[in-house]
Amino acid sequence: MSQRRALKLPARPELLLILGSGLTVVLILIIVAVLLIREHASTLQTAQRSTSNITQLINADVLRNVELYDLALQGLIAAAGRDLSGLPGDVRHQLQFDQSTAAPYKGEVLLLDAQGTVLADSSTQTPTVRNFADRDYFQIHQQNPETGLFISRPFKIHCDCEQIWRIAFSRRVTGPNGEFTGVAVATMRLAYFDQLFSSLTIGSGNTINLLNNQGILLAQQPLLERDMIDKDLSSRPNFKRMLQEGSGSFRAISSISGTPRLYTFTNVGQLPLIVVVALASDDVFAAWQRAAWLTAGATGVLCVGLLWLSWMLRLELRRRYRAEKVLSELAATDGLTGLANRRILDQRLTLEWDRARRSAEPLALLMIDVDHFKAFNDRHGHLGGDEALRSVAQVIGSQIRRPADLAARYGGEEFAVILPNTDASGARAIAERIRQGIQHLPPVAGDSEPVTVSIGLSTWDKRSSASLEQLLLSADRALYEAKNSGRNRVVDAATLLAP
Ligand code: GH3
Ligand code: MG
Ligand code: MG
Repeated sequence: MSQRRALKLPARPELLLILGSGLTVVLILIIVAVLLIREHASTLQTAQRSTSNITQLINADVLRNVELYDLALQGLIAAAGRDLSGLPGDVRHQLQFDQSTAAPYKGEVLLLDAQGTVLADSSTQTPTVRNFADRDYFQIHQQNPETGLFISRPFKIHCDCEQIWRIAFSRRVTGPNGEFTGVAVATMRLAYFDQLFSSLTIGSGNTINLLNNQGILLAQQPLLERDMIDKDLSSRPNFKRMLQEGSGSFRAISSISGTPRLYTFTNVGQLPLIVVVALASDDVFAAWQRAAWLTAGATGVLCVGLLWLSWMLRLELRRRYRAEKVLSELAATDGLTGLANRRILDQRLTLEWDRARRSAEPLALLMIDVDHFKAFNDRHGHLGGDEALRSVAQVIGSQIRRPADLAARYGGEEFAVILPNTDASGARAIAERIRQGIQHLPPVAGDSEPVTVSIGLSTWDKRSSASLEQLLLSADRALYEAKNSGRNRVVDAATLLAP
């Protein structure tokens, strides 16, 4: 029984080793993954913060600039409300346009009448006859008195001199009774945005964009494609999301470049303008990615190394266990017969004796001695004697079946069998089977008679007050009696005590 338990023991250190190294590896992987995720989040946060600063800068500059244009328009509208007909042309011109000089990248500032015809022009005191009734800004003010400051779609002035993009800021001119009397309009070259955006360093592959709330692209620096200005991006999902959220940051695939981008965007004050800084995700996370690969590689090597070492340790444990098992088996086994040796017999006898006393179950002991073995040895030599002892041991071993039973070589040509939880009649039956089994072994060549054994049997039960020594002694006496009464027989010590 103890031998069986000993076989299972190494499973524990092996399990501990596998579990320990497995858990360590999992723990290392979790820690590294958490660190990398945190680092990723912090990289994203840093990028968002710096792009948010850029959008705020642009926001402030554009707001100030648009304010200047609005002031120019409001000055022109105020002048239009007064009767300036009596003033000289240059004074009237100055009164109308004195607010518009400060605005940078300014084109023309015009006052249109209710039919869209130019009434006053910032560039000349005697404006040429032109009509802008077809323009979006004219129509919107004509139709909607609530429009306020309107920012037009980008357009190009068709003249021989230049073909550059502009936008127009416009306000409605209202008569004393609220009627539509015309439009004040100021144009601005979009180069203003290009200059503003290019003064901010955001790195190659990244863009700064300005769109109106209709999704029309007003400026992009640097341009992703030719003809991007005035492009309608209102149907793009990214624009829809920006329009919905007002300001913020998100990562998405650019519908223009098809690459992942980090968008940071904000509305320009109350104006219908949206500033968008789009960073190439690959650039943002390039440094993180390099560090992540390095860390992942080093962690991988570490984990593989750890697992490999654990595996080696496991193999070594197994090798040692096998060696120890062989050694302990050798130390427990009789070399000639393969049965348990005397040392194990003594240990088990004490063990089973104590157990029998505790559980009050019977314990039987057989002492077996080969008959006339000296003479057998003389006839067949020592080697022949050894062979016979092996056969006898085999029969004894084959007759004990319970796991707790033990057959051992007591010494020389003597054997002992411990039969726990076996009463006298059971022990007698087993002893008899052993005796008969040996008697029925085929006789050795040259002998007419088979090898036989005498068996002394002694049983302890709960009614008995005998000690272990007395049990052994009585089994020995029974064996002696078996010898004396003719050999090849089983004698129960109990019968010796019978009156
Ligand atoms: P009895 O029937 O009274 O037991 O007679 P016996 O001859 O068997 O008794 P004895 O004690 O006089 O002789 C035992 C012999 O067993 C002596 C020894 O030569 C032999 N013997 C003991 N151990 C071994 C062994 O390991 N191998 C061999 N071949 N013989 C052994
Ligand atoms: Mg003997
Ligand atoms: Mg003998």
